[in-house]
Parts: sequence; C-alpha cells; structure tokens
Amino acid sequence: MSQLLVGLILVLTCLCSAEEAFDPPAPKWLQEAEIFNGCYFKPSQELVQDVFPKFSCIVGGIWSGWTVEKLHKLGVRVIPYIDFVQSPWPEKGSTKEYTITFEGHADWIRVDKEGNYMPTFYAPNKGWYQGCFNAVGFQEACLEKVRRAMQSGVDGLFFDDCGSCRAECYGPQFGKHEHVNEDWDGIDAMDHFLVEARKIIKSFGDDKILMMNAWRPRRRWLKVCDCQMWESFINGPSRAREYNLSNMQYIADHWADYEDTGKRIVALAYSGSTTGDVKEDAYFAYAWARLLGFPWADWFTLKDKPGRELYDVKLGKYLQKHQKLDSVMFRACENGVVVTTIRDGEQSVTIPLPAPFRHVRLLDVYSGAPVPVDSGKLTVTLPNRAGRVYVAQPTGGEARAE
Ligand SMILES: [Zn+2]
Repeated sequence: MSQLLVGLILVLTCLCSAEEAFDPPAPKWLQEAEIFNGCYFKPSQELVQDVFPKFSCIVGGIWSGWTVEKLHKLGVRVIPYIDFVQSPWPEKGSTKEYTITFEGHADWIRVDKEGNYMPTFYAPNKGWYQGCFNAVGFQEACLEKVRRAMQSGVDGLFFDDCGSCRAECYGPQFGKHEHVNEDWDGIDAMDHFLVEARKIIKSFGDDKILMMNAWRPRRRWLKVCDCQMWESFINGPSRAREYNLSNMQYIADHWADYEDTGKRIVALAYSGSTTGDVKEDAYFAYAWARLLGFPWADWFTLKDKPGRELYDVKLGKYLQKHQKLDSVMFRACENGVVVTTIRDGEQSVTIPLPAPFRHVRLLDVYSGAPVPVDSGKLTVTLPNRAGRVYVAQPTGGEARAE
C-alpha cells in the first residue's frame, strides 16, 4: 500500500515537473527565418503586396483595409504587437482592443521602493505606468488579452517592453496591492506569465509563436518563448556605428551556442538612426546579425533608402559556425557569405570557404560587382567598420568540381 502511495506521489511529481517545463520547440518556419519585419504605420498597398511577403513574419497590427485572411492569402504571417504597460500608443499596430489599461486598476501598477507608482521608462511624465506581474489579478487580465488576440487567427504575438519587469515591486510593503507569490522577483513573475501565455498561444497551433522584446536577450528567457528581440542591435537611436568592436566579439562568443537551443533572437537595427552612412550602417548590422545566427529586421527604416536590397537576400542554411580570420569574421551559407571587420581600418582578406560551398561566382550585394571564388577562396576588401554580404549569382555560376 505504502509502495503504491510512493508510486502515486512520484507520478504526480513527474506530472508537475512536466508542467513546469512546458517548452515546446520553435516552429520550423521560425527556425529557418532569415529576415523579419515590423510595421506600426498604415502600410501602402504596394508595401503589403510587394514587400511584406519577402519576410518570414510581420510584427504589427491589422491595419484598416486589411484582415488576417487577406494577409494570409498573400503568404504574410501576422504577429500583432501587445504591451503590458499602460501603453502610450493604444493605436500602435491598430490592436487597441488587446492593449492593457490600468483604468480602475491602480492595484496592478508596479510600485517603487519609495511607494510611488512606476512610470514607463519612455513616457515618465504622461501617466503611463508599468504593470506588476505579481499583482493579484494582473496576469489573468493579460492572459485574457492574449486569448482574445489569438482568436483573431494571427500567427503569434509580440510582447513589447518585457525588459521593464526587472525592477522589483514594493506594492505589498506600501499596501498598494498583494502579491501572488512573495518569493517571486520581477523576472520570476514575468517567467510565469510568459509560460502561461505561451500555453495559450500554442493551443492555437504548434506553428504559433511568442516573441518578446527583452531589450537585450537573456538566456533564461530562451526557455519561455520562441523568439527574443534584441532592440537597437548596433543601429539604434542611442547608439552609433562606433559600437565597440571588441564587445561585438564578446557577444559572438557569448551567443555562439544559442542556435543549438532551437530558439531565435531577432536583431532589430533601426537604419538611419545613427550618425553614420545609412547604407554602411545597415550592412554592418545585417552582417553581424546573420553571422551570429540572428534573423535581421529594420522595421522598414530602409524601405525608401539605400540598403533596401537586403530585403531580397536569401542566404539559406549555414554551412559552418562563425569563423574568425585575422581582421574579419565570416560565415558561409548555402547561397552566400557574410563578412564583418573586427579591427578598425580597411581590411583585405582571403577567406577559405568550406567544401560544401559550391558557387564559384558571387555578387557583392553592396556594390553590385561580381566577385570570383578562386580555388575555394574568396578575396575581399572591406572599408573601415564594415559588413558585406556576397550571394551566389542567379545565373552563370559554375559548381566547384568534386
Ligand atoms: Zn507588485
């Protein structure tokens, strides 16, 4: 009898552990994605029909005149934007009905150690606040928004501003609200919410995704979502292309094994936000992103600028991990090669390509010039702090001899 009881307890323990470890793999389409994009403005008919289908998914809302069904017919996956702060942009992406508000619910607002309600970092004086995922009732309200959004037939959801959850909440100490679990810190509470939200999202199909904006990606969050965003990757409003090159090499080492997790980190580079040349900056961020195995996105900041040809690049599967050679890093893919400099100044280098790379004639996407592959080696010259991408020419390339 006692053995039966022990067995029952063990089974229940295993079931509970399995519940805790809910973490299905990211869908195949996401694992193969090379470029994403996001659109928070009402897009033109041409942008939707001609440009949107180039991307694995479009983050944003359902714009007037467009439905999920119409977008799906064009082959466009739709990932609406949601945030769980008191949003200053309730119309952002036109998903107003999914955006949380704190009207009548001051008990959901995060409280700082002085007892003040915590404003959003980007609108500190406008009455917009951060939510506390440990506050009684707040997670349930957010999960209901998630359920309603998924019922519209979309392909997943993008949760913005998740990085703000790092701050502690002192609500109970000041009598502002009770916490569901007094042992949770802000990130524990966010973890719990993300797991529960992802269960709802996956209940609509294994191919649906949860993408979160972590500001900077975190390893622990690889287990609670399908995709994290790295916002302002190299190019951002607060950053210029003088981005520290040794720091980029540290990042390359730090995230070297992340692809083995099957999850993705999308690198969002805001082209035109820096003081440097827009096209050079775009290529530098693109090359670093693809080198690190990250899908790249620009939130359409290049749509009418030099560099938008990057929207058409398809590199295919990686043939190797990223490689360091003298003053550059590079990575070969089925259909091309990305290269970035890791030292200041112009760099010339001859890159040995891995044996499975079959193309003998490439195109420098930046300049449009042909570049030969000689005896399995690619010789290139890059200007100061530059990234380049070389793709197999659609015609005229001859396969390398066995
Ligand atoms: Zn709280």
